[in-house]
Amino acid sequence: MTISTNPHDDDKFHEECGVFGVWNHADAAALVALGLHALQHRGQEASGIVSLSEGGVFHTHRGLGLVGDIFGDAKVMAGLKGRAACGHNRYATTGETALRNVQPLYADFEFGGFAVGHNGNLTNAQGLRRALVKRGCLFQSSTDSEVFIHLIAISLYTNVIDRLIDALKQVQGAYSLVALHDGALIGARDPLGVRPLVLGSMPNLGGQSSWILASETCALDIVGAEFVRDIEPGELVVIDATGLKSIKPFAQTASRFCIFEYIYFARPDSVVEGTGVYESRKLIGAELARESHVAADVVVPVPDSGVPAAMGYARECGVPFELGIIRNHYVGRTFIEPTDQIRHLGVKLKHSANRAMLEGKRVVLVDDSIVRGTTSKKIVEMVRQAGAAEVHMRISSPPTTHSCFYGIDTPSRRQLIAAQHSIEEMAKLIGVDSLAFISLEGLYRALGQNGRNADKPQFCDACFTGDYAIPLTDWPAEQAHAATPELLPGQ
Ligand code: AMP
Repeated sequence: MTISTNPHDDDKFHEECGVFGVWNHADAAALVALGLHALQHRGQEASGIVSLSEGGVFHTHRGLGLVGDIFGDAKVMAGLKGRAACGHNRYATTGETALRNVQPLYADFEFGGFAVGHNGNLTNAQGLRRALVKRGCLFQSSTDSEVFIHLIAISLYTNVIDRLIDALKQVQGAYSLVALHDGALIGARDPLGVRPLVLGSMPNLGGQSSWILASETCALDIVGAEFVRDIEPGELVVIDATGLKSIKPFAQTASRFCIFEYIYFARPDSVVEGTGVYESRKLIGAELARESHVAADVVVPVPDSGVPAAMGYARECGVPFELGIIRNHYVGRTFIEPTDQIRHLGVKLKHSANRAMLEGKRVVLVDDSIVRGTTSKKIVEMVRQAGAAEVHMRISSPPTTHSCFYGIDTPSRRQLIAAQHSIEEMAKLIGVDSLAFISLEGLYRALGQNGRNADKPQFCDACFTGDYAIPLTDWPAEQAHAATPELLPGQ
């Protein structure tokens, strides 16, 4: 993820990413490219692959753009030699779109080359960076992930795994890492397991197993690998010639997996922490229908992210599910375009009304979240223009009132419509006849929990509650605000 030198001068320092690694396969880099393609939804700005061939020789290729464009060239792939490789997809909304920020990051150490790809967001990277720079470390990029490299470099341990553990013990934040050095592929998850990381395996031509590490199971499916298990929160797996070793360097704590992965971020065909994302979204939609039923003729999803929740909603209330909005798949996510003006335009480019399904109807529009409110406002306008008699909006997440500091791209609270307005005000601004969000309790129920245990919540839900489980060391003001949300404007 990209940081500016001043943590407070930029409200869009967050980044979402996907990671993938392969150990012991003749086509390691090609598998990584396929895996990254399946993880494209986690980051569309840039991608990189680092491969490792005989004698500890590393090969790197990084580029800006989509995986298919960067790695679609046979010459590029031919250069990524070796039986082990790791890769990374990056999504940054501002900051530098520079090649130097594209991961995996690579460095030559006294013990040889080391590459690392990071999904998540560190919350003390700015402080660490300042201290490291004072000690003489020369940073090459503006990504927070680079602190891993320098912490490993200055570690007094001799063994590379001990050095990495030494580094992990100094960082705070969310991380799922895939790293590669001459001798091992390494996977690691932060002690709370905020971001996902899974282990897979597949037989190779030599009759042995190839190992895969991936952000999501959909990336195992694309290469035909079998899901083995989730990497556990706080766990390091070291995969080398002798097999797989699990190391747990941290004291055990209750995990806090990101609830937003279920709501929006993960691909619906992925199984996350033992639960299918698609099914979860349908259950959330059903719970939403029970909580906020409204008389209607048709349930219409805001595609694509609203589709499974709308299906669950429609089935639960017995109202027909119809594709009243058609999505054009040849434009990126609206979030990717940097300015507000373009973001407005992006919504129009991306969605069109299917008039036949809307005209004269009482429409329930289902979407997964409202962040700034820009998308919803445009969609509602479009649905009304297509002749809908009533427009009711139902959202399969609670109001997003707080920014994410752990690796999901949300803007500052100033721009979060739910942080600034009541639900009634939001309904007016968006232009709907009624607006309802699933309750936090309902969301937990839909995810198979007995409601939210306030002392020990099962998920990280900071974007809905301000309950930041990992200290926001680089953003003390945000931590203070989180504790006193009523002091913020518009609350
Ligand atoms: P907004 O116009 O800011 O309210 O955008 C809300 C829309 O963006 C919803 O349809 C979501 O599916 C989508 N969305 C929510 N969170 C994110 C995110 N972190 N990155 C990209 N898109 C998102």
